[in-house]
Amino acid sequence: LVVSVPCRSLENERTLVIVKPDGVSGNYTTSIRNIILQSGFTIQAQLTLHLAQHTVTTFYAEHSTKAFFPSLVKYMTSGPVLIMVLEKVNAIADWRTLIGPTDARKAKITHPHSIRAMCGEDLQRNCVHGSDSLHSAAREISFFFPEGTTLKHDEL
Ligand code: GDP
Ligand code: MG
Repeated sequence: LVVSVPCRSLENERTLVIVKPDGVSGNYTTSIRNIILQSGFTIQAQLTLHLAQHTVTTFYAEHSTKAFFPSLVKYMTSGPVLIMVLEKVNAIADWRTLIGPTDARKAKITHPHSIRAMCGEDLQRNCVHGSDSLHSAAREISFFFPEGTTLKHDEL
């Protein structure tokens, strides 16, 4: 007997999270970590960094021609960030759902329980990043944790 099984993937996915400078300086990292663990993600790696201008410019290259780019670079280099690799089934989409829409001001109205509603301020200062596709998750994870390096925790 051959049973055909629908091929929706139940394999784990990884996604890249950044708690942005406003999230770190506003002391939201503990609340965010609690939400992550309560939502069934495992934290595969984490790293605290003060990003350099060229790092942000490369990471956000897709936005380099936008009018808000200089302001985004200034914001993202304004203080330390916490970078994490999260893993679970459907991690990429589920994390984007948890953080809510890009504009934290709108999130407070339309997605009041989202992370950006909790700790973000506006369209730019929105507290957290999440990869938006399998392709960008792979790029962003290897950007901060180059292939071949063991994923490490700096300080849990
Ligand atoms: P995300 O994927 O939801 O983070 O949003 P995007 O990829 O569109 O933008 C990247 C980041 O740039 C956002 O998270 C914001 O911090 C910032 N950003 C996006 N759009 C704007 C904008 O119109 N103005 C400003 N000042 N910042 C923006
Ligand atoms: Mg994006």
